[in-house]
Amino acid sequence: MSNSASALQEKLQSLVTTYTKQLPGELSEIEKAWQHLQNGWNHEDLEVLLRMLHSLTGTGKTFGFAELSIKSRILEQNLKHLSQSNNVIEDADYLEINNQIVTLKQASKRGGASRTSVNLSSVAKNDISSFSLNRVTKIIIVDDDDEAAQEIKLQLEYYGYTVDCFKKVDAFKSAILKEPEAIVLMNVEFPDDSLGGINMIDEAQGVLDKPIKVIFISAQDSLEIRLRAVRAGSLAYFTKPINSSELIDSIDVLTSTQPQVPFRVLIVDDSATLISFHSAILQQVGMVVSIVQDPMNIVDSLLELDPDLILMNSYMSVCSGVELAKVIRQLGNFVSTPIVYLSSEDDFNTQHEAMSLAGDDFLVKPIEPQQLISAVTSHILRARMLRSFMVRDSLTGLYNHTNIKEQLDREISRAGRLGSQLALAMVDIDFFKNVNDTYGHSMGDRVIKSLARLLKQRLRNTDIVGRYGGEEFAIILTDTDATSAVKVMNDIRKVFMRLLHISDGKEFSVTFSCGVADLNHYPDAVTLGNAADKALYQAKENGRNNVLQYPVS
Ligand code: GH3
Ligand code: MG
Ligand code: MG
Repeated sequence: MSNSASALQEKLQSLVTTYTKQLPGELSEIEKAWQHLQNGWNHEDLEVLLRMLHSLTGTGKTFGFAELSIKSRILEQNLKHLSQSNNVIEDADYLEINNQIVTLKQASKRGGASRTSVNLSSVAKNDISSFSLNRVTKIIIVDDDDEAAQEIKLQLEYYGYTVDCFKKVDAFKSAILKEPEAIVLMNVEFPDDSLGGINMIDEAQGVLDKPIKVIFISAQDSLEIRLRAVRAGSLAYFTKPINSSELIDSIDVLTSTQPQVPFRVLIVDDSATLISFHSAILQQVGMVVSIVQDPMNIVDSLLELDPDLILMNSYMSVCSGVELAKVIRQLGNFVSTPIVYLSSEDDFNTQHEAMSLAGDDFLVKPIEPQQLISAVTSHILRARMLRSFMVRDSLTGLYNHTNIKEQLDREISRAGRLGSQLALAMVDIDFFKNVNDTYGHSMGDRVIKSLARLLKQRLRNTDIVGRYGGEEFAIILTDTDATSAVKVMNDIRKVFMRLLHISDGKEFSVTFSCGVADLNHYPDAVTLGNAADKALYQAKENGRNNVLQYPVS
């Protein structure tokens, strides 16, 4: 068993122990509620007792008290039946219930064995280690043309890659042995061998277990050489002069530097024990879990976490899961958030009703850890994919105009609640019409993409980057005031102006202007947006290629 699986096993076992200890207390509460009801049959007290029994049915199953769970369910059904019949409740009925409570207490002493064998290997890909953010990737360049190599190195470093350049074969060999995961940019032509680079990779591959991730760079473009390169395992082939933005696109795909944001799950359950149990399982595989024990507090938690998925007990004391799900659906922002019910209901009709009204899945307790993780994972992956079609701009992969505005509203409320800072930066590329006119529209698109990529790579994961319009971007910098935002945006501006774009062998560079405003001075989305716009306008007026904050001092 892996370390994380055995840690989870231990945690779950300790929850079983805690549950076992608190069971006698729960049983005596049930007994008390029953005595109360015997003293005077009334609907409210009956509801309280039914809820206790329902919860016992679910928790009993989850923590290995199968017999207790079954008995509790039978008792619950009998009581419901009695309450629904119009007949007077006879002494015999009371006696029957009394007996059932005695057997319930007996059953509570049998159980609690560890029924949860944990095997997380099938879900290892969701382990927290694979959510490592801002992964830095090593690039190894092998080229005897030092100037060309240094040029590519510089461009790659702007995008956050670590780059080593080698001219000598021996130095390359020891570097790739040390870092077999590195991406190799290998020049095909060596001074003494027109296919030296390809031969070199063939040779190095002989002593490595895994295929080298190699991209060939060549002065020649013949099908014959491309074929040789493919046979040596090439992932891409670029001819000189290298179009660095195409090269970086290709490396980005290979390294998928897009940070995987951990899955966020909101658990809604009025049983603290079940919350601990289910959140332990999900947290163990790196998910971020928020909990709501009182369903009446759900709105704040929804806004706070913006969950990828809501895991909800379908039967709670204040309201039913289905009722709560309907409220969530009517909140607008959460129309498409998957809702998965966790319940001890095993009758088809209840499930069907719950699903047809507002739910996406129905999991019956007790649920095995792997089953819970894979159900949650598959719903989240699908929802994220669908959502990305709705909220992302297709050219850059950034948030689109509508979404960035929604996120601004959300982040402003969050900052208000937490008393934290927030800055908005509006970016517009300078003289972009000239770029289109001189180099063509598709080159213009490449420039837009290169700025999008730079913004994503240089900003923190907590910052939100959107494409606001054609060559205009909006950036929400959380926990940041305008002065700090200006510094950050200025650093990015200086990098962007040094990036070289190549069109038909001609190099050119582009600049942008940026306007910044913060929530300290402009407390709502409209005034904040106007202030950032005015600052951007002023930055353009001041000669472009600069960053200004509003009010301009
Ligand atoms: P300024 O410095 O004042 O911003 O000058 P500008 O030339 O950039 O002026 P403006 O921002 O008004 O021009 C934006 C141009 O961007 C107009 C439009 O043709 C072009 N554009 C808008 N969307 C796209 C796009 O998706 N791709 C390309 N290639 N061009 C676009
Ligand atoms: Mg513009
Ligand atoms: Mg412009």
